Amino acid sequence: MRDNSDMPRMPAAMARMAETLGLNLGAEYEARIVSRRQLDRAVERCGGCADPGGCDIWLDDHAGGAREAPSLCPNKALFDHMRDGW
Ligand code: SF4
Repeated sequence: MRDNSDMPRMPAAMARMAETLGLNLGAEYEARIVSRRQLDRAVERCGGCADPGGCDIWLDDHAGGAREAPSLCPNKALFDHMRDGW
């Protein structure tokens, strides 16, 4: 297992989305479920998200947690990947 000290800095929305989905990005990284490159690209997609307002609304509506990221999230496939652990 590697440590997560070299993880990229996460946008607040990405961190909040992971928390809502019950995902620990640091643990996923340490377990090599996601690579640094995948995280870097996810950070870029989140920073350029076309609907951050819709994200805020969805996150507020799912404050109690959710199994899947919304289809509006360009990182949904990566979040699904982490949830499924493959
Ligand atoms: S919906 Fe957009 S802002 Fe929200 S976590 Fe996904 S990429 Fe980031």
